[in-house]
Amino acid sequence: MAVQQMSNTIRENKFEQTDHCALEKKPLLTIEEAQTSITSSIHPICEMDTIPLNSALGRVLAQPIYAPINLPYERNAAMDGYAFSSASIIDKQAFTLNLVGSSWAGKPFQDVLPPNACIRIFTGAVVPDALDSVVMQEHVSVEGTRVHFSASTQGLQNIRSAGEDVKQNDLLCHAPKIITMDTLALLASAGVDTVAVTRRLKIIFFSTGDELMALGESLQSGKIYDSNRYLLNSLLTSPSYDLVDGGVIADDQSKLEDTLRQAAKNYDVIITTGGASVGEADFVKETLARCGHVNFWKIAVKPGKPLAFGKIGHSYFFGLPGNPVAVRVTFQHLVAPALKQLQGLAHIKPLRFLATATCALKKSPGRLEFQTGVLTQTDQGEFVVNSAGKQGSHILSSLDKANCFIILPLECSGVQTGDAVLIEPFSTAI
Ligand code: AMP
Ligand code: MG
Repeated sequence: MAVQQMSNTIRENKFEQTDHCALEKKPLLTIEEAQTSITSSIHPICEMDTIPLNSALGRVLAQPIYAPINLPYERNAAMDGYAFSSASIIDKQAFTLNLVGSSWAGKPFQDVLPPNACIRIFTGAVVPDALDSVVMQEHVSVEGTRVHFSASTQGLQNIRSAGEDVKQNDLLCHAPKIITMDTLALLASAGVDTVAVTRRLKIIFFSTGDELMALGESLQSGKIYDSNRYLLNSLLTSPSYDLVDGGVIADDQSKLEDTLRQAAKNYDVIITTGGASVGEADFVKETLARCGHVNFWKIAVKPGKPLAFGKIGHSYFFGLPGNPVAVRVTFQHLVAPALKQLQGLAHIKPLRFLATATCALKKSPGRLEFQTGVLTQTDQGEFVVNSAGKQGSHILSSLDKANCFIILPLECSGVQTGDAVLIEPFSTAI
């Protein structure tokens, strides 16, 4: 199936089917405006902890590290074979040298090398100063202590030079960055045993709503199980966060206010879900205004329109929508980048690319829409995407089947089979 031009994909239908949000007097903030509002109000935390390297996986490296030693530390053999001097190669003729010893990884050859000598050497073993070449063991023939090198033997091969990877005092690891398993291996190879990391972000999250019941309770009419706290707990599980599940807050303004004021004393970030809309029981935005400052409320995103962002004292506050798919969308696109910024990390735009839609997708103009999709690749390497199923801010079964968001621009009024659409694969890292 040929990918049509992106310009063909967005069937502009200038608000023929108007999203009712577009009728509201105050224009909703675009996602970019919301992101800018968040970015410009965040001040990264500066406090650091010094911790053993062994506990540093997933933490944020706070200071750059310069190589205390050369990597490799010394010249060593890149393979098992025989070490010799390239001066032994004369006019590309075969030659024979005397085998005078061995250099093992961990047990270097330490004797003085006589002329016309070679040594047995193993991968990682130090190459004596007088030698500069290693030949593979398969490329020589050995008779007792006589080693025959063929005419095709090349010099200056198979040696890892000292500092070839990183030179002593050069930058070994920039900061800030998340310490991955690869960072750990790099730092360990240089003998770095403790690191300065940004202190953990203190985050608390709550669900709000009188309808919410805990798992294990038998469900009554009018009630639902609280799924958001399971979602948020998973999204927020990271070695660089001190995470607290604050439970459920009833739809009661004074309880909400007390809880938020208390949380603001102890946490860098407060996240709530639900109660952010305009219903009689939606107190989040009003409470944020009473306890702190509302930077914005409501964005032109579907799902995820009601979203209040602001500050209560020194805490950053995110009042996410109640519906779980909206929580997933807004967390990934607004909260996760903010948490990274708070830790001093640079914002990396999520990976997005075009894929061919294998089905039609319904959409009304007015809001940027994140639909759930299943992305696959054909044998020819072309990316194709199918809808994950029914779409809706409460449709968790499609979210569970999906492996990507299909991002449909604000003005788009639907997609036809064969159109190219923008894809953002789900990422496991936040
Ligand atoms: P609200 O904004 O509080 O009116 O919530 C919008 C929708 O999301 C309602 O149908 C709520 O029942 C639902 N909802 C709110 N919180 C949760 C939650 N923690 N888990 C699942 N659904 C929720
Ligand atoms: Mg509610």
